[in-house]
Amino acid sequence: MPELKDRAYWLEKAQTLQIEGRAFIDGRYVDAQSTETFSSYSAIDGSLLAPVALCGGGDVDLAVAAARRSFEAGVWSGLAARERKAVLLKWAALLEAHSDELAVLESLDSGKPIADTTGSDLPGTIYCLRWFAELIDKVHGEVPATDPQFFGTVTQQPLGVVAAVVPWNYPLLMAAWKFAPALAAGNSVILKPSEKTPLSALRIAGLAMEAGVPAGVFNVVSGDGAVGRELSLHGDVDCIAFTGSGKVGREIAKNAAASNLKRVWLELGGKSANIVMADCPDISHAARSAAAAIFANMGQVCSAGSRLLVQRSVVEPLLRELLAASDDYQPGHPLDPASVTGAIIDAAQFERVRHYIDLGTQEAQLLKGGRQLSPVEGGAYLEPTIFLAKDAAARIANEEIFGPVLVVIVFDTLEEAIAIANQTEFGLAAAVWSSDLKTIHTATRQLKTGTVWVNCYDELVDMNFPFGGFKESGNGRDNSAHALSKYTELKSTIMRCA
Ligand code: NAP
Ligand code: MG
Repeated sequence: MPELKDRAYWLEKAQTLQIEGRAFIDGRYVDAQSTETFSSYSAIDGSLLAPVALCGGGDVDLAVAAARRSFEAGVWSGLAARERKAVLLKWAALLEAHSDELAVLESLDSGKPIADTTGSDLPGTIYCLRWFAELIDKVHGEVPATDPQFFGTVTQQPLGVVAAVVPWNYPLLMAAWKFAPALAAGNSVILKPSEKTPLSALRIAGLAMEAGVPAGVFNVVSGDGAVGRELSLHGDVDCIAFTGSGKVGREIAKNAAASNLKRVWLELGGKSANIVMADCPDISHAARSAAAAIFANMGQVCSAGSRLLVQRSVVEPLLRELLAASDDYQPGHPLDPASVTGAIIDAAQFERVRHYIDLGTQEAQLLKGGRQLSPVEGGAYLEPTIFLAKDAAARIANEEIFGPVLVVIVFDTLEEAIAIANQTEFGLAAAVWSSDLKTIHTATRQLKTGTVWVNCYDELVDMNFPFGGFKESGNGRDNSAHALSKYTELKSTIMRCA
């Protein structure tokens, strides 16, 4: 009989979890040198989950030294690609074998619904690891044309020590988007998870070791932003790959410049425009998709469709369907498999979102939501919220809120829609809904974003498509074979043969 994975099952799993709160440095779980800890709380109800090692500069030095040693010794960087592939595939299999445990840990720490962590975060993480493992023994260099007496190659070499600093909205998945390509390429990695969600990263480090990742090759240094800062300033870190806010991204870029000019890759915020033209092939589909685009993961998604641009003649039917569709995103207990959304990460983020809701009631018309709910005491839960903007220049229509707040903006012409879509500092994603090829072609070319969806939203965010932003949404791309170029140097080798 297959096990019934109902709410009772997940609550029981949550209660019996063995939580690891120590950092993972040089192949071992260790306390911070200072022995200091910080508290990791559950976003579900604010309860204490575990004390976690509060690492500092000394711990960062140890992790960097271990990563450097392992890199120079060639215990990973010097393996044949197919050998690294075998270890990474084994690690992926271990993640799969532990996926219930990891999913419940992720839901507890972050407040994400268990349906998402089991159905998306864990499978996505495992798929990412497998994808880069499978890619790495199929990478070929180039043999450019030369004069006949020469022979030359262009090859990719790993960088060395890669630091990955990641946020709390998809703790494991965002980490995997960095460490999978970096490790596959032969680098040694130091992962710094958010202090709001450090637990899943710490847990998978032990599984990496079990899979055969050598000591020093994958380290997890827990702590607050100071750990990320130390990594960004460190003279022996070759690259820092960051996902998070623009404010911190800027600081990392400055610190990299002030230290050793380490490579800096930034995946930052967004305020993505979802444009519905009057000739949209299916208004009902567009409305349901628009609701999912902003309310999934409580709107805590960098590529969330947080601005819905609607051509005037279809505002009425679209809004009617949208308001109905948004009912599906009322938050519930995150460990109930029937819950589609869960908790906001913490009180600070909740306050930030509430501030924007207050602002919205002055700047725009509140169509729905805006109230705090409490499906679980002690957590921060919010109704799906929809505003109709009076003016596309309103702050709530241009600043990233990172919560379940949608702003609807009415426009008249495609030209106007594209201008509004492109008016923010961001350029992560956009969508256009239309039946007209010319409209679609114009929009996809003119929207200044790293991803454009046509007649869909948030589809196929998978390993085959690069993900990242134009403008202040960052640089470089996660996912796809292009991501390897972030973690490798190109080498031109030129031989005189005659
Ligand atoms: P954040 O405050 O920028 O934090 C991101 C990471 O940086 C955390 O691990 C944080 O540690 C660390 N950090 C804090 N201060 C630092 C410093 N001075 N130097 C180096 N690292 C430092 O962002 P967040 O609030 O976690 O995440 C939300 C933001 O991420 C949103 O803007 C969202 O759009 C963006 N995001 C972008 C993508 C994308 O792919 N483009 C994906 C997801 C999220 P602590 O948490 O311990 O302070
Ligand atoms: Mg937490």
